[in-house]
Amino acid sequence: MDAPEVPAIPVIGRFAPSPTGRMHAGNIFAALVAWLVARSQGGQMVLRVEDLDRERSKPAFIDDVQRDFERLGLFWDRGPYFQHDRDEAYRAALETLAARDLLYPCYCTRADLHAASAPHRGEKPVYPGTCRALPAAKRAEREAAGRAPALRLTVPDRVLGLRDLVQGDYRQNLACDCGDFLVRRADGAFAYQLAVVVDDGAQGVTSVVRGVDLLCSTPQQMYLQELLELPHPVYGHVPLVTGDRGRRLSKRDRDAALDELLARFGTPAAVIGHIAGITGLAPTTDPVMPEELLGEFSVGALPTLFPDPVQIPWR
Ligand code: GLU
Repeated sequence: MDAPEVPAIPVIGRFAPSPTGRMHAGNIFAALVAWLVARSQGGQMVLRVEDLDRERSKPAFIDDVQRDFERLGLFWDRGPYFQHDRDEAYRAALETLAARDLLYPCYCTRADLHAASAPHRGEKPVYPGTCRALPAAKRAEREAAGRAPALRLTVPDRVLGLRDLVQGDYRQNLACDCGDFLVRRADGAFAYQLAVVVDDGAQGVTSVVRGVDLLCSTPQQMYLQELLELPHPVYGHVPLVTGDRGRRLSKRDRDAALDELLARFGTPAAVIGHIAGITGLAPTTDPVMPEELLGEFSVGALPTLFPDPVQIPWR
């Protein structure tokens, strides 16, 4: 008998919730696929609580989010790790980038950015490079005015691409589609792009599954991985579950939040079953736990599994 195929590198997936509210149907769907992708390959899951945003992250939500995962049968093997414990690692990464002369202070305010944002082909405003070559005198002027700078990473005119497990080939020119991006905010907080790359690297994450809204961040993260000599994970970006008129569900959509879902459907299995059924992960919306979906699930089917790879209407 042939031995079962075991990937050369063990698969480590991750749940990376931001504890800014209860989980909603979209978060649950992405977490379910992340879990299925890792488990179906004999892998493990890391739980990382992304509480970089200290103002919006509430201790109560940190407890809730862990309880929610457990209740839904989405168990993890390592962690929870917390981003609030990781300042030293993020600082070290910034030092590595600064030593290569790749960072510069940026004094632009949100209003400046809005006014100056260049025409762009990507999905987000492209930073026009205002502060990249700021003459020393101007820099001193801004410092004297007491404006605390953010830090940006200089990006090259280079195309970075990936083969996404769900979305297929995706390419981005860092300079034209993204521009120099933030690695530290003006308030001193480390930027999401930096933290996520440093953490995925340190936690040995090889499989990243998340919503397609983060696909356009992936080339930036891959560029940072290169600079910090970290391996690239395999990426899969799943459709967003959307509410009225194609708007993505958010933590403010009460009717899709987990406590409401439990009230509507009765049990965690009924919630998972409904989400699996409407997204195409299961043939019906019958109650089911993640473990029971493993038998039918295969990573190879992901490119054709979802009728629309970008959005799935919530119902
Ligand atoms: N913490 C992010 C969120 O909850 C996910 C970031 C990621 O998966 O890279 O939306």
